[in-house]
Amino acid sequence: MIIPELDHPTLHLAMAQFDLAAEAMNLDPRFRERLKTPQRSLMVALPIRMDNGNVKMFMGYRVQHDSARGPSKGGVRYHPDVNLGEVAALAMWMTWKTALAGLPYGGAKGGISVDPNQLSQSELERLTRRYVAEIFPLMGPDKDIPATDIGTNQQIMAWMMDTYSQQVGFSVPGSVTGKPLSIGGSLGREEATGRGVVDVTLEALHYKGIKIHDTTAVIQGFGNVGSHTARILHEAGARVIGVSDVTGGLYNQAGLNIDDIFQQHKFGIPIAEMKVGDHLTNEELLTLDCTVLIPAALSEQITVKNASHLRCQILTEAANGPTTLEADEILHDRNVFIIPDILANSGGVIVSYFEWVQDVQRFFWNEGDIRQRLQEIITSAFHRSLLFSREKKTTMRLAALMSGIDQVAQAHAVRGLYP
Ligand code: GLU
Repeated sequence: MIIPELDHPTLHLAMAQFDLAAEAMNLDPRFRERLKTPQRSLMVALPIRMDNGNVKMFMGYRVQHDSARGPSKGGVRYHPDVNLGEVAALAMWMTWKTALAGLPYGGAKGGISVDPNQLSQSELERLTRRYVAEIFPLMGPDKDIPATDIGTNQQIMAWMMDTYSQQVGFSVPGSVTGKPLSIGGSLGREEATGRGVVDVTLEALHYKGIKIHDTTAVIQGFGNVGSHTARILHEAGARVIGVSDVTGGLYNQAGLNIDDIFQQHKFGIPIAEMKVGDHLTNEELLTLDCTVLIPAALSEQITVKNASHLRCQILTEAANGPTTLEADEILHDRNVFIIPDILANSGGVIVSYFEWVQDVQRFFWNEGDIRQRLQEIITSAFHRSLLFSREKKTTMRLAALMSGIDQVAQAHAVRGLYP
């Protein structure tokens, strides 16, 4: 059953994945309906005074999918297409993601339906502060901890932390993660998702017996996740032959100059305007012949239309939900090794967890500690999923989902039903 207000293709995808995993693991029917329905969903009206004096209304959302294993955790997305159903799907994936990594959290997600590039800094600040004021009753370091996602950044997290702190009357660094270092952010948080993507990709290459120097990689999306993935993969010795952003893609079979692209991107130059390599469309980029394809943009990019044209051996899902259910089957039949999203992109929330632990303890770690602990957690989740998929003769996606869902179901079982 989908509640009409939540009806959205991305939620259908998350629920269909859940059904497949629940069936395969023979999940206790008592938990099924509940785990398909978010625990709490909040929709808030955000009237903002624009710089020209007019008042404009935006809609904001926060969904807590589950909190049986601890406070709920997940990013806040600023994007014009955000709505309650999409946020609910992303919140559900956060529940499985945190459980698979063994973090003491449940899953949540938030968002505002807005194009942040159309707003001035002061408009963005007012929007962010009003959003926090409205979701305040749900928030808190022991309740629900927001973080960055598509369209949000460190500055926005600083405004969130400040607004929350102003409401309670003292500074609460652990109320938000992805913050600047000066207010309790963590070393390594900004690159964390990309670093985790590379950690699991290296494990998959090793498993497949492919050397890093023989590896070619193609990355869709050059936001926080895609750009750091490209940089770190390039540093590790892979040849990054294709990258893209919303404006288009770049290709060079001999390997792109990632440092140059990274620098130009920092200055706000769109990929379509960069003069390095050959230009191609996002659709063409996805079908390039390569060892590893890494979708690091929005959901549902690999569909029934292009799945049979993909020419990669490994698909590392850095984005949330980049592959539709039909495409998943096609890729499975074609023997593409998939590192599923809840595993591949969990580096972000893993280092968010480190940030929260450091904030709560008021004791900060060095970058070496962060990288090492991230690698330990994410590679052990990778190997547990791989082992499970081989034992159960199932896909990596189902194995990862089943491990996560099992942790959550165990928590529900022992806690029981109230009242
Ligand atoms: N937005 C990221 C994700 O989708 C990170 C969430 C977090 O750090 O809480 O996993």
